[in-house]
Amino acid sequence: MSFFERLRKGLSRTTEQLVSRFEAIGGAEAPAVRGRPIDSGTAEALEEALLSADVGVAATDRIMTSVRAAVGHGGNLRTLVKEQIRRILADAERPLVGARPRVVLVVGVNGAGKTTTVGKLASLAKAQGERPLICAADTFRAAAVEQIAIWASRAGVDLVRAPPGADPAAVVFDAIVSGKARDRSPVIVDTAGRLHTRVNLMSELDKIRRIAAREVDGAPHEVLLVLDATVGQNGLTQAREFLQAAGVTGIVLAKLDGTAKGGIAVAIAHELKLPIRYVGVGEGLDDLAPFSPQEYVDALFEETW
Ligand code: GDP
Repeated sequence: MSFFERLRKGLSRTTEQLVSRFEAIGGAEAPAVRGRPIDSGTAEALEEALLSADVGVAATDRIMTSVRAAVGHGGNLRTLVKEQIRRILADAERPLVGARPRVVLVVGVNGAGKTTTVGKLASLAKAQGERPLICAADTFRAAAVEQIAIWASRAGVDLVRAPPGADPAAVVFDAIVSGKARDRSPVIVDTAGRLHTRVNLMSELDKIRRIAAREVDGAPHEVLLVLDATVGQNGLTQAREFLQAAGVTGIVLAKLDGTAKGGIAVAIAHELKLPIRYVGVGEGLDDLAPFSPQEYVDALFEETW
């Protein structure tokens, strides 16, 4: 199955949610979305449908402004909505910086899918011809180091680890030194998802950032926040906390396969102005891919409606 197919399958619950809301309001005898004229009835149905898929109030408002302006002008509703959503997502994109080694911090609360994502990211980098290195900087939980070691071996990628309780920033330092010596890039850092207090967690991330910046120009080059797509709008609150303290540069939306709330990608791009970098659509090593606004809207608005 191509990644697009998997993305389409992953988003199918979100698509179903959109369609069923839309049909419920528009009436069963009404033509499918693509055949609808843009009138005030379809606009209202669309607004409800977008909100039900967790697109969020602000992004929905922006989309609806364009839809209402098009009422009575005979345009195609689906084409219009797809283009509006694609634009919101594309506006949040930013170019990646090239550096060696590229240092990528992966942050997020426990359970979001952080460790799994680190493994998948390493595997993807390798498939693209890079020579990644994983750094196990969640030294607070012995189990976390063991888990990341399993992912590193699945991906066939080297791991820099330290005994439980070691200073995470020191492990990051070791990994960067080792990355330079062995010509490895990217250095993908799995960070802790929870400490005794949130203040501790954020100051730990800050220390890691400082050490990385001292060792490589411009590091960390990416700070990826892993969000569990199934938590929908609650993810925005989590993101805002990390955004301030950890300098997040992009989002990995994990578990997009298990949710009807896949519209959250649009809310994140619009409200946080953060690019979605990758999406996770399963628990396997290959179930992660770079995010493309065009593929996302194509998958969400599949031809069936
Ligand atoms: P962490 O605590 O943030 O490091 O989270 P883990 O990486 O251990 O993942 C938590 C759970 O989510 C595990 O059971 C993973 O298999 C699962 N998971 C992670 N990513 C995905 C995904 O994209 N899709 C699905 N369905 N499950 C995922």
